[in-house]
Amino acid sequence: MPKNQYFSNIRKGIAHRIGSLSIANSLLAELEQSSYTGIKAYDLHDWEKGKKSKTSFLDIVTNDYNQKIAGWIELLNQEKDAFELQPATKINISPKLNINAAVIKEWKQEEPTIEINIGLILAVEDLLGKCLCTKSFFTQRTPTGELSIANPFFLIGPDHADRFLNYGSIVALGDAHAQLLTAGIPIAPWRLFQFDLIAELSAQWAMLHEQAHWMLGHIDYLAAQRGDTSDFSLNENGENTPLDDATATKYFEMGADALASSLLFHLNWDTERQENKRFRDYRNKLQQAYGNIGSESIIYLNDHAAILRTILLSIGLVVLLMENKRLYLNSPRSSYPLPVTRLLGIFLTVGEAYGDMINFSEDNTYDTEKIRPVIISYIEVIVDLQLIVSLLKINNPIFKPFIWERNKEEEDQFTDDLFSILANGASDPGIVQTEAAKEFIYLRSLDPAFMPRLKNYLHLGKSWLDNY
Ligand SMILES: [Zn+2]
Repeated sequence: MPKNQYFSNIRKGIAHRIGSLSIANSLLAELEQSSYTGIKAYDLHDWEKGKKSKTSFLDIVTNDYNQKIAGWIELLNQEKDAFELQPATKINISPKLNINAAVIKEWKQEEPTIEINIGLILAVEDLLGKCLCTKSFFTQRTPTGELSIANPFFLIGPDHADRFLNYGSIVALGDAHAQLLTAGIPIAPWRLFQFDLIAELSAQWAMLHEQAHWMLGHIDYLAAQRGDTSDFSLNENGENTPLDDATATKYFEMGADALASSLLFHLNWDTERQENKRFRDYRNKLQQAYGNIGSESIIYLNDHAAILRTILLSIGLVVLLMENKRLYLNSPRSSYPLPVTRLLGIFLTVGEAYGDMINFSEDNTYDTEKIRPVIISYIEVIVDLQLIVSLLKINNPIFKPFIWERNKEEEDQFTDDLFSILANGASDPGIVQTEAAKEFIYLRSLDPAFMPRLKNYLHLGKSWLDNY
């Protein structure tokens, strides 16, 4: 394709990050000619320029996501009847730079407002950009031959603190560490298409998680406990955690994760009701940029297992990022579930939704051949999440390194426990080894205790409760 069209499909918010598109284009052309296989650093001049211009970088990203949010709400409203949902419709992007999201209910208002901090969106994009600069991240696992278009080729941003200063834990570290999360962004178009897709899914899940706190009655329940005349806010940092009861907080997080993950899955799945627009767009962009895709390492996302993988990765990225933030804010033993506990719940929820959708077999037993691609997808997601964990760990040498279990090295057993839970359900603590899996099974066992307390405050149909 003509060189000047490499970036024709890239949304404004991403293009702005890259800076001069003509420079990026010429770098790409150079890459093609010389089959350059390394990584090249380049200054991201536009950040400095953007600060002086009328439209700031934050405004561009905010406008970008406001458009996306309008689309998400439209999609939710279309599915209202099918899923018996009563979603909140007021969603704000707050200019706050720390990594957080919240659902806020003023006592006079019927409906809450969902607030997503711009810092959460930027942190997702920054971490994702960095991940996508790593060759092995979110690719097919069996690349063959030389793959020039698959090589990440990225721009390094300036070591400037303004943008990153309040990104969660980095706030205390000062300017010297301000570049911790954002080191670069890939400029190979296929990587940018992935960037766009995953970043949006991640942010959408964050929004759905807040929606879930509302729809599952958490907010109204807590407000009722405190008396009707107080405004109420539930946020994801565990600051001002409204409950003394850590078990309830953990239980609510697991419930919100499950509903949000189930919704994200259903809203992005091919069904008779709706075409899978987002993934189709991704494939169209790839095709326009590359013609017939020749690279074995590019995920075309044209099968269900690959879509499953994308959804799980997008959710996992947010969970790990929030945990990273929380680790700094709170004592490691916070009132939040362990990150791996949350991941187990998410993997199980999405796996169950997938199982229901493809109808493995008539007698409800799994066909090994049909389930194999799913298992491979799960393992690929775990490998990708490990990279995210290691990036967060490597880049945070000052404080406690991020580890799966907060205080132990147990990641090896995670896969064992995940598949035990997927295969045997979540009822028997005897089948698992890790602290996280035991916590997960314990929290799942609390449904009979909590569901009756919440049922008067639900903003969704009773049939959803069958899933929890
Ligand atoms: Zn939450």
